[in-house]
Amino acid sequence: MAIERTLSIIKPDAVEKNTIGGIIQLIEAADLKVKAAKMMHLTKRQAQGFYAVHKERPFFGELVEFMTRSPVVVMCLEGENAIQRYRDVMGATDPKKAADGTIRKKYGANIGENASHGSDAKETAAFEIGYFFPGLEIS
Ligand code: ADP
Ligand code: MG
Repeated sequence: MAIERTLSIIKPDAVEKNTIGGIIQLIEAADLKVKAAKMMHLTKRQAQGFYAVHKERPFFGELVEFMTRSPVVVMCLEGENAIQRYRDVMGATDPKKAADGTIRKKYGANIGENASHGSDAKETAAFEIGYFFPGLEIS
């Protein structure tokens, strides 16, 4: 097992509902370490660039609207097998299908407003971490 880093975003719905702390508790309870964190209100351009892989999907416009509607918390997480393990901590994209105890089950509203983002592979994690954190901002 390798130590990996992954990119997490606490999405606008979860920040609005005052559940930043609850989500970070689940992250820490899973032995994932917060290596860098910041709160920011994404611009349309920043959200479009981050989700560029989804630009042909029918929900792209809705996703960009949602992600820019209020601030998010962006974090770089580190741990053994962190990419897959954080996906497991988040649960399925649709909170209705997410397992009990997962972030999306506890805090997500629906398939669009699902409380959190996590990178899905090594390559996307590298792109996404670099998108938000210059190397110097990660200790
Ligand atoms: P995940 O975030 O689990 O990796 P995807 O990469 O498929 O899921 O989608 C990215 C994000 O786009 C989702 O987390 C969700 O916010 C939004 N999304 C996905 N599917 C839909 C949909 N059918 N309708 C609206 N928004 C969606
Ligand atoms: Mg994805």
